[in-house]
Amino acid sequence: MNSKDIRTQFLTFFEGKKHKIVPSAPMVIKDDPTLLFTNAGMNQFKEFFLGINEPKNTRVVDTQKCLRVSGKHNDLEEVGKDTYHHTMFEMLGNWSFGDYFKEEAITWAWELLTEVFKMDKDSLYVSVFEGSQDDDRLEKDAEAYAIWNKIVPANRIIMGNKRDNFWEMGDQGPCGPCSEIHVDLRSDEEKKKVSGASLVNKDHPLVVEIWNLVFMQYNRKADGSLEPLPAKHVDTGMGFERLCMALQGKKSNYDTDVFTPLIREIEIITDAKYGRDEPTDIAIRVIADHIRAVSFSIADGQLPSNTGAGYVIRRILRRAVRYGFTFLGTKEHFMYRLVNVLTQSMGEAFPELSEQKQLIENVIKEEEHSFLKTLDQGLVLLDTIIEKTKGKTVDGRKAFELYDTYGFPIDLTALILSERGFSLDEDGFNVAMQEQKTRSKTASETSKGDWENLQSDAEQEFVGYDRLEADVKIVKYRKLESKKQGLQYQIVFNLTPFYAEGGGQVGDKGYLESPDGDVVYIVDTKRENNEIVHFAKNLPKKLEGTFKAVVDSKQRQRTEANHTATHLLHQALREILGTHVEQKGSAVHSKYLRFDFSHFSKMTKEELEAVESFVNARITGQLPLEEQRNVPIKEALENGAMALFGEKYGDAVRTIRFGKSIELCGGTHVKNTSDIWHFKIKSEGAVAAGIRRIEAITSDAVKDFYAESNKSLTEITEALGNPQDAVKAVKSLQDENSDLRKQIAALLKDKAKNLKGDLQSELQEKNGVRYLIKKLDLDAAGIKDLSFEMGQNQSDLFLLFATEQDGKALLSCYISKELVASKNLNAGTIVRELGKYIQGGGGGQPFFATAGGKNPAGIPDAMEKALEYLG
Ligand code: ATP
Ligand code: MG
Repeated sequence: MNSKDIRTQFLTFFEGKKHKIVPSAPMVIKDDPTLLFTNAGMNQFKEFFLGINEPKNTRVVDTQKCLRVSGKHNDLEEVGKDTYHHTMFEMLGNWSFGDYFKEEAITWAWELLTEVFKMDKDSLYVSVFEGSQDDDRLEKDAEAYAIWNKIVPANRIIMGNKRDNFWEMGDQGPCGPCSEIHVDLRSDEEKKKVSGASLVNKDHPLVVEIWNLVFMQYNRKADGSLEPLPAKHVDTGMGFERLCMALQGKKSNYDTDVFTPLIREIEIITDAKYGRDEPTDIAIRVIADHIRAVSFSIADGQLPSNTGAGYVIRRILRRAVRYGFTFLGTKEHFMYRLVNVLTQSMGEAFPELSEQKQLIENVIKEEEHSFLKTLDQGLVLLDTIIEKTKGKTVDGRKAFELYDTYGFPIDLTALILSERGFSLDEDGFNVAMQEQKTRSKTASETSKGDWENLQSDAEQEFVGYDRLEADVKIVKYRKLESKKQGLQYQIVFNLTPFYAEGGGQVGDKGYLESPDGDVVYIVDTKRENNEIVHFAKNLPKKLEGTFKAVVDSKQRQRTEANHTATHLLHQALREILGTHVEQKGSAVHSKYLRFDFSHFSKMTKEELEAVESFVNARITGQLPLEEQRNVPIKEALENGAMALFGEKYGDAVRTIRFGKSIELCGGTHVKNTSDIWHFKIKSEGAVAAGIRRIEAITSDAVKDFYAESNKSLTEITEALGNPQDAVKAVKSLQDENSDLRKQIAALLKDKAKNLKGDLQSELQEKNGVRYLIKKLDLDAAGIKDLSFEMGQNQSDLFLLFATEQDGKALLSCYISKELVASKNLNAGTIVRELGKYIQGGGGGQPFFATAGGKNPAGIPDAMEKALEYLG
């Protein structure tokens, strides 16, 4: 069965059991401060498990794009070395939100594997939680055991410990025992020798876990204690690639049709052969795996960058490039050439890939290119480190610097060192690494208290589209403590006019006022598990009763102007540049807006002007906001609403419309475009290959901007002596300046000529060499001209000139070609050695070389030393 059919069969099997098929959530998570990437199918359903929101369907099935490269689940270092862990993989899952529990979850899983997929029952093992004395006296999962024991013999049920068979969402929150299903893919002969049961959970590549059935029945509190959940849930996750391996009779995920097209393409591009030797195989697996992770992330809108999620992606791509570089001999970018094959095999199930293929290729190509440059520079730096190393062990801190500042991979450093007969002080490296980790960890660590509930957790209402003030009650609050922010409180109201950060728009600020005038400032508003959470530095003195919640209207109005302008800008770009323009990120603040979009060249001045006019025409056109709430997503899309890649949309959405274009958007907007007053682009530039960024301002900020520019212009005019036309005055100053430069250059040349005559007479002689060592008042070009002119038609000349300019020293050495050979002199070596005296370095050719340095005081010493070269 091919992988496409396997995926479909899984989904339709559970559809037949009344599950609703839902799409994968984006792999890149944009609005959860605790998680950068989806690492399990359950992430997108967290709010249902926490009881914050009610699901529409209590039974759901899906395949979820997951990435396990950071945080709690980090498989990165395993990937490629083994044959069954990936960075990015698909997790097939069926879900019960307070609906069915262990009985159905277990029997259906067994039915699917053995009856639909016809897996051999004798190759399967299952595990059940054995209980834990240390942890709140957790009991063994007797219920699951009894259900399993009806369908599998006892010798195939393995009792598992807390590490393998108890699942927790984090330090706090829903948790419960789980049952895993393992498959033994070894030959019959092997099976006879060693029992499969003894290999379960022992990292054997052919006895692997394929499915995990989690039964959520407890809630873990901040103090570590457990309480039963009011509604129990099922969360299952099956590795799609591992399932394909088992069903296609393969011994490695990479031998399934999920990976073979990629591997074949890598073989063609690199001329390597898969299956010949282990290092090559690992490299090929790393590349086949990583191209998926990187491409899917870019499709979800996450570009490689220097921080956060972007940095993780950059590191994955670099890991692949480095494996290619070291083991397959790829010296040029090549990864981007795999995107085509990837799109062919996965583009149907995940259309975001095919639709953005070109962008993905461009971004990867550019990123590879710049990393290969880094590698080149790193190799040069590593040379210098080796040169300076006394003994045979290279300082670990130096290697760390190379890794940390220049992104030069440590294993490559180690490899090169061993090739050159050096070793790396690994302890020193690890210490430096640990120190840095501790530094960044303590800076970002937050500790959270338990939620204190004042009222039952009824569903919260957002009223901020219509009002900036509301009477609210506090539902719950908790304490947060972090080095960075200090002590803070998170407060949840029953209803709120505060907009929570999201869709690029910043969270509202404002205040909370009690009936007796006690005021608490709200410094930020964010969404956590789909709940609007307000941040404050302190709590109201009395927590009960009704409060007035008031949003800072000035900030909100400015932010709204920028948000609506962002939509108009998006329309303008698609109209003027073309429909290849896709939004790739936006930041809507009160002071400015930033918009990233796909487009392949720098925008011209005319295009920028056209975009500004387009937006400003719609502002003066006074377009009213037409808003529709709770529209079924299907209907919205049919009406032509524009959805964004990598965004997660619910079943019911909000659409907004100014003029022709309809967009899906949860943000807040002006009621009429005339409220924006004016739109002005401040900059346009590149963020990555094929991605441009526009920064712009609106309303008051434009007024301030013009006032500021006007002030500068007045100052410039005054400085110029108040001419009629300031631009003309600056132009004529520039012309004058360039004339003067030319004159100076001509004068210097003359000076050098005259000097030549004078200096000829100063030449001295030593050991058959006519020489001159002298400090001159000329610039570098002048000294060079002078040296070559003096040297013309001479065969026995040695010139060493020094000069001092702007606090810097320059040495220049000229040697007649004949002397280079006969006296074994080398100007390059000489300036490099003399460079020490002026704290600098340089080089050049044997007959002419220069060195620059920052210590002019060393010139006399350098000159004295120079004479020694003449014997
Ligand atoms: P393992 O012990 O093999 O790393 P796990 O316990 O981390 O697995 P779960 O977190 O229970 O796995 O995830 C559910 C399923 O997802 C697993 O049964 C497995 O089939 C699959 N899976 C987990 N991690 C990976 C990965 N890195 N690559 C591919 N599939 C994976
Ligand atoms: Mg794991």
